[in-house]
Amino acid sequence: IVAQRSLEAAFIADVIILVMDVTMVAPEDESYMEQLAPVRDRVVLAVNKVDNEAREHEAWNFYRYGFADVVPVSAEHGRNVDALVEVVLRRLDEHEALEAAQAAEAAAGAEAEAGEGETGADAAAVAEQRRIRVAVLGQPNTGKSTLVNALTGSDTSLVSELPGTTRDVVEGTFEYRGVAYELLDTAGIRRKQSVTENVEYYSVNRAIGSIAEADVVLLLVDAEKGLSDQDKKIARLIVERGRGLLLVLNKWDLMEGITNALNAVSDRIRFVFPILSFAPIVPVSAVEKTGFNKLLDTTYRAYSQLQKRIGTGELNRALAAWTELHPPPYVHGKRVKLHYITQVSAHPVVFVLFVSRSRGFPGSYQGYIVNRIREEFGFTDVPVRMDLRESRSGGSA
Ligand code: GDP
Repeated sequence: IVAQRSLEAAFIADVIILVMDVTMVAPEDESYMEQLAPVRDRVVLAVNKVDNEAREHEAWNFYRYGFADVVPVSAEHGRNVDALVEVVLRRLDEHEALEAAQAAEAAAGAEAEAGEGETGADAAAVAEQRRIRVAVLGQPNTGKSTLVNALTGSDTSLVSELPGTTRDVVEGTFEYRGVAYELLDTAGIRRKQSVTENVEYYSVNRAIGSIAEADVVLLLVDAEKGLSDQDKKIARLIVERGRGLLLVLNKWDLMEGITNALNAVSDRIRFVFPILSFAPIVPVSAVEKTGFNKLLDTTYRAYSQLQKRIGTGELNRALAAWTELHPPPYVHGKRVKLHYITQVSAHPVVFVLFVSRSRGFPGSYQGYIVNRIREEFGFTDVPVRMDLRESRSGGSA
């Protein structure tokens, strides 16, 4: 009865902390995990009695159960409790965004069914809360204000205006192909920043805030000038946070008549900045309002990829095929074993690969696996992170 009650509580909770014992998994635990499967996205697995490093290794094996967060703790010694609190706080933030997204999806479904009447209208009202959040970043004079005005201005036939919002980080909203977007205010759009000696520092700082809020970042680059050092710093932050990133080559109208311009500019960016090889490059002209369809379709595609979750079974079947095609490398004379892979989160897209030995694991092989994931599971346009964890036993749960 106690168990039943706590499960009922779990289903209405925003975040569920499931406490397990690192030294043994009891049948009750398995039953809990099974019953919590429908709400697994809300579960944080606290693996208790992790008093030493050996047990910490064991704790990582709990990732195999498919919960997004596994935190080794020792309740008795208070070990790692602050990390647990941090994960829970982060989850509460994410939970809010996710609920709104689900409401939006439900509303879209209801709309498709048509004639839903009141319920549909209610759901649509909720759906308004979850818009794709887009931040426009870039050096001064790259055309950020011009682009934002063109996208949110009612003079474009391409996009339609949405009613305003109270959040003051939002510069404007619009709708495109039935999807709602919010453009986040970034330095230099709403009010041009004054020139001070620490403009550089200030703008990176502002960028961090916008990146945290955004689903997808449009990094505006003056097509004639190319990427600046500042852009590279900011791009790195975007990749680290696992946000969508589009390199938007603005002022493309000035490039007219230059043959092969897009290839030349793209090649240069790819060469100088390999960590951005996934980032779509989109030429636009903010003044002439060209390239906007491609820009928004690509933004939507990146956003969709960030939401995607691949089932663990499917992933591991693919992993088996990849390792057969290209066997894992030897490290210190021993072939590394790849035990198990699981996607631990979407948005940011993060996988964890359990291996027999992570030290000295070649980056090239890690890159091979990441590329296979991108290609076969359709994460071609967003940052994909894959962490390695050592586990001793074979992985299959
Ligand atoms: P911001 O500082 O990044 O917000 O840049 P602005 O939007 O203020 O634009 C800076 C200058 O570039 C202005 O003179 C714009 O008219 C010009 N500009 C913006 N977009 C384009 C474009 O697509 N083509 C051309 N030729 N000029 C542009």
